[in-house]
Amino acid sequence: MITYFCPNCWAILKEKMGKCPACGYELYEYSELDYEHKLLLSLHHPVQDNRIMAINLLGEIKSVAALPELEAILFEENTNYFTQKSVLQAATKIDGPEGLALIKKAQGHPSTLVQRLANDLWVEIQEKGNV
Ligand SMILES: [Zn+2]
Repeated sequence: MITYFCPNCWAILKEKMGKCPACGYELYEYSELDYEHKLLLSLHHPVQDNRIMAINLLGEIKSVAALPELEAILFEENTNYFTQKSVLQAATKIDGPEGLALIKKAQGHPSTLVQRLANDLWVEIQEKGNV
């Protein structure tokens, strides 16, 4: 069975419908969004695998617009390491000063695991000569 979610409030929809019964979002508007915006909405998807897929894809398309949200996810208290790792790898792919700033910031993350990964990525980036 396929579960449909409203891409605006993530209410579960019983079937494909024109308007979300929970928040009133016109679901056809979603189909008119560009790929990057759809991915940005998917960062709030209730299913973790889908959130991680969105993080990875935003990295692939080097979405600078995603960085503020990625930073928020990285520093949210209940984010698990698997997701944090995806965020840092995406930031590495996005590169440029904004992506690198997030790696730098992650070096001061409260989690030692995240700090360590950020340090490793930072060394890799420097070895590639991107800094
Ligand atoms: Zn909704």
